[in-house]
Amino acid sequence: MMLILCPYCGPRALPEFSFDRPVEAITRSDADTATLVKTLFERDNPRGPSRELWRHTYGCRSWLTLTRDTATHEISDIRPLGGEA
Ligand SMILES: [Zn+2]
Repeated sequence: MMLILCPYCGPRALPEFSFDRPVEAITRSDADTATLVKTLFERDNPRGPSRELWRHTYGCRSWLTLTRDTATHEISDIRPLGGEA
């Protein structure tokens, strides 16, 4: 079972977490339609490291950002949302 290291709870099983979206797909809800379509639906899907927004849905419910390799699923960095360096 794959474990994810929640910064608040420690190692927890993958099914406790929910993927939300790549960080670059975060946009303002009041953005114009063309910007929303481009940001949400017309993104590249590169192979390799991807910065992503996740939530510890069935744990502490915290929002997290992590770096996951889209080819291997290896997680190289995980932080509380807003804890970006
Ligand atoms: Zn947690």
